[in-house]
Amino acid sequence: DTRPGSPLAASADLEPGSAERDSRGLTLDIIIPVFNEEEVLHLLLERLGTVFAPETLAAQGVASVRLVLVDDGSRDATARLIAERIREGLPARLIRLSRNFGHQGAVCAGLDFADADLVAVMDADLQDPPEVVWRMLQAWREGADVAFGQRRRRKGNVLKRTGYWGFYRLVAILSEIDLPLDTGDFCVMDRRVVAALRRLPENLRFSRGLRAWVGFKQVAVEFDRPARAAGEPKYTWKKLYQLATDGIASMSTRPLQAAQFGSFFFGLLTVMFLLLLLGFSKQLDVPRPFLFLYALVATGNAVLSFCLYILGAYVGRTYLEVKGRPPYLVMELVEPRPPARRPPD
Ligand code: UDP
Ligand code: MG
Repeated sequence: DTRPGSPLAASADLEPGSAERDSRGLTLDIIIPVFNEEEVLHLLLERLGTVFAPETLAAQGVASVRLVLVDDGSRDATARLIAERIREGLPARLIRLSRNFGHQGAVCAGLDFADADLVAVMDADLQDPPEVVWRMLQAWREGADVAFGQRRRRKGNVLKRTGYWGFYRLVAILSEIDLPLDTGDFCVMDRRVVAALRRLPENLRFSRGLRAWVGFKQVAVEFDRPARAAGEPKYTWKKLYQLATDGIASMSTRPLQAAQFGSFFFGLLTVMFLLLLLGFSKQLDVPRPFLFLYALVATGNAVLSFCLYILGAYVGRTYLEVKGRPPYLVMELVEPRPPARRPPD
């Protein structure tokens, strides 16, 4: 059963695990989101031209490389320059989004439009060195379904660097799954993983987290992250804040759980304090009206806290349901070949 949406849809091209995968005749799509990148575009295309020169492709046995450039509503000449290069024969397709949807939306669009055997995702500003893709491809040959870039060192703005450092650690602590540290969206993925990602219908997408969530065989490829090749960063502080909060909310309901337990604990505390007050009211000489008032407030508080606790339990589950992630993904199916089938009675 390989109807779209059925459990096996994502495993339509399940393959027996082999010791070494063969990259001969393979196609590679490279997704690059671009937003106002006219300054860096020529550097990027020049570098890609060298790294993915026909001789190198032949040596690696890769049949073809195509760029999937997603223009995220650029207001400069980016889209026009790319269209020109495509007319001149650049092996690429340009997907122009109707407005600026943000980096994560652009990556998502790229994944929807990529259809090669292997799919890479990288930034336009050469902070994800294209040469590393060859090392990721090697990891794929050795059996990895996802080879993701992991930063050894990071260059650039100290404040941003520290922010990212803290953010990845916070998300890793909060996340319900194992999230590798210091990894962005830079990666090479097998088409099975891309198919799995497309099965996640959620609209709020934190793609590096979803990529970890789908599982399969994941391998880190270390690299030093250089500074931006040209132009200004396109991630504003506002967009970074959005990414951070989306990332945490998308990967975890633990903050909600913390609030839940906080309210429950607080409710319990008020009740205990009330009992204490009642028990020692003689010795403390508390006026009656005050006791009555406090009893009212404490009871109300406890009831509210308990209601919040229950609400949290449902809100968290509603959120998980709304995300619509499949309860499981199949990586491999091992059965006798040809499959032993009993004749129908
Ligand atoms: N980008 C995008 N839409 C945005 C912001 C950024 O498509 O709204 C792209 C940008 O063109 C680049 C990548 O996302 O290819 C990473 O952006 P940037 O280099 O500014 O991020 P940083 O390296 O500062 O985290
Ligand atoms: Mg950058």
